[in-house]
Amino acid sequence: MRAVVLGGTREISVEQVPDPEIEAPTDAIIRVTSAAICGSDLHMFAGRTVAPPGLVLGHEPLGVVEEVGPAVTTVRKGDRVVIPFNIACGVCFNCTRGFTSACLAVNADSAGGAYGYVNMGPYRGAQAEYLRVPFAERNCLKVPGEPGDEWEDDFVLLADVFPTGWYANELAGVGEGSTVAVFGAGPVGLLSAYSALLKRASEVYVVDGVDDRLAMAAEIGACPIDFRRGDPVEQIVEQRRRRTAGKLQPGEEKMLGVMCGIEAVGYQAVDWNDPTMAENPSRVLEDLIGLVNPTGRIGSVGLYVPNDPGGINPHAKRGEFRLSFGKLWEKGLSLGTGQTPVARFAPALCNMIVEGKAKPSFLVTQRLPLEAAPEAYAKFEQRAFGYTKVILRPDLRVSG
Ligand SMILES: [Zn+2]
Ligand SMILES: [Zn+2]
Repeated sequence: MRAVVLGGTREISVEQVPDPEIEAPTDAIIRVTSAAICGSDLHMFAGRTVAPPGLVLGHEPLGVVEEVGPAVTTVRKGDRVVIPFNIACGVCFNCTRGFTSACLAVNADSAGGAYGYVNMGPYRGAQAEYLRVPFAERNCLKVPGEPGDEWEDDFVLLADVFPTGWYANELAGVGEGSTVAVFGAGPVGLLSAYSALLKRASEVYVVDGVDDRLAMAAEIGACPIDFRRGDPVEQIVEQRRRRTAGKLQPGEEKMLGVMCGIEAVGYQAVDWNDPTMAENPSRVLEDLIGLVNPTGRIGSVGLYVPNDPGGINPHAKRGEFRLSFGKLWEKGLSLGTGQTPVARFAPALCNMIVEGKAKPSFLVTQRLPLEAAPEAYAKFEQRAFGYTKVILRPDLRVSG
């Protein structure tokens, strides 16, 4: 079969690799109809992880069951399924508590496994024609409809980015009437803002420095904040000061930040305060510690890793960052982190899509054949205009 393979740094190729096979009685083989490229794939692409060459990339698949092992009974050939990026056994201590993101049975090196990802176990990725899915009854979530229908681009986002945007809101404590600031308007940031609006937050600010992404934030009803115009924290506080003028009780001027902060950038954050926009892995977390009101909450779903060969200094290479922990503690802030347990949220989000209450595919900008992956990765990394979310479609062929 054809698959997207990581070579070295910024080297991606589409190669013939052996078809996956049923290896355990609980496995299934999926024919992939859509597989998205994720911002977190870019860290491997850019050589900012210890990912080994030869890795088949991709962890955001939608497809159709092609074959199941003899122990699989609840999933059948022909079922349309979305595959959460977390690989979960379903029965360990963490899975049974709903933390499929920290399954204890699928990765010998740490808690949690995923397809096509560094340090996440020996699993091939999903940017390919076929994918082997372990523990298929747990890891194949059935969805309605047919391949290529009006939900194709929505359902593929259930594998990671829509549940991750939703989870960011859970970590940040977003509910009806909340004030929310989302840092980062990539796919996860935009879907975090979208989720906040679905949860009926009253004010949602989205911080970024890329025009088309800020425009998308405005289109869904959030308030875009362009960090190229200066300190995003001051910009948000200024807007809140204007909105609340004459309405505050004594003392409430100490609450002109937001109650809920969402970090959707990760360790390759750029520093708005540096004229060269140099990388500063703690920039966004620092801004959120400054912005979020006393007793508020921060949800960090942007990726951070403990080993970064390209880190800006010896500490960053080990995933160690300077943070104003004293300020965080003084304000009594809660900080939630980590990968999303997708299976906990995907079924409800699927219902919202089917009922017409959510249409996350507004952010999908390209549907491309597998062969377009090298160019798509490069353009996505450059934040090229119009490259917000790329879906690879193995059924498409390069024209001409
Ligand atoms: Zn992803
Ligand atoms: Zn488990």
